[in-house]
Amino acid sequence: MSHTRKIAIIGSGYVGSSIAYSLMLRELADEIVLIDANAEHAQGEAEDIVHGISYMGVCKVYQGDYSDCENCDIIIITAGRNRKPGQTRIDLVDTNTNIIKDVVAKFKPYYTDSVVLVVTNPVDIITYVVAKELDVDSHKVLGTGCILDTSRLVCQLADYIGLSINNIHAMIVGEHGEHQMALWSRVSVANSPIEEYCEMSNIPWNEQIQDDIMERVRLLGADIIKKKERTHYGIATCVCYLVDSIMNNHKIVVPVCSILEREYMGISDVAISIPTVVGGGGVIRQLFQEWNAKEMQQFKKNGEHITKTIKMMNQNGV
Ligand code: NAD
Repeated sequence: MSHTRKIAIIGSGYVGSSIAYSLMLRELADEIVLIDANAEHAQGEAEDIVHGISYMGVCKVYQGDYSDCENCDIIIITAGRNRKPGQTRIDLVDTNTNIIKDVVAKFKPYYTDSVVLVVTNPVDIITYVVAKELDVDSHKVLGTGCILDTSRLVCQLADYIGLSINNIHAMIVGEHGEHQMALWSRVSVANSPIEEYCEMSNIPWNEQIQDDIMERVRLLGADIIKKKERTHYGIATCVCYLVDSIMNNHKIVVPVCSILEREYMGISDVAISIPTVVGGGGVIRQLFQEWNAKEMQQFKKNGEHITKTIKMMNQNGV
């Protein structure tokens, strides 16, 4: 009998239902189950998605409960509150940690070695909490981390350089939040270091331009929230890309967050984004690269910031 490709999505709000919709269109699963504290809402979302399936898509989409997490290839977690205009992701930490601990306690009895992909913010902290509460091989638990920020950076760079996004290789690492950082020393355009490409194309390139681009990238999420109160399509596309690699073992290298396998630049016991090979089974390998001194210093600060938040949360008894 062939394997049924099954994905559970816990949290069927804007993010969860956009993910379900995009997974259905990409035919990445045979079954998608939506689980939410508001079962009626999850049922409504599932039915809405199913109603187009006679024209496009083949999968079964339904509302379920935690027992449906059994035999899933992937469990995607999106349950929790989102940022209001003016809030940072860290402002959500206490509320969403409590929600996620409750969620993990409910699906743990039915957990059968699935990859767990965390989207709920603050995603670095919530990924850490899920990994600790579930207490399984940490390669099985990853968060979307800086993958969306990286996509935003690549789009901004492509606009600035005036080339298609396919020619740009760039990465944001660290915290999915205010402290995130671009690895400028590694950015390449059409196979050349960006400074070389800009010089030969007469495009200005300096630290001020880098800072301006990074500032725009950092604020893009908050800007959308100001306009429409939430973001969901961009992250749904990123999740689809990750799910495709996990289901089909593509082995992509992406800045997702998972608990560091070893001490790195003086940081340990945190989930933080670094270049990571993602494929069948989740995290295949974290790439512990040597960056330039400024980048390593900046990354260390990112790690210290996440560690401080985890300590504060523990002190508050969350
Ligand atoms: P939403 O309010 O539309 O949906 C959240 C859902 O979670 C609701 O349906 C709610 O009923 C459910 N829920 C709450 N508590 C629950 C519980 N205990 N058990 C089960 N379900 C529960 O919010 P949204 O816009 O879908 O955002 C969801 C999360 O995704 C937020 O934390 C948001 O910040 C995050 N997000 C992350 C990224 C990223 O890059 N990682 C991007 C966008 C949004």
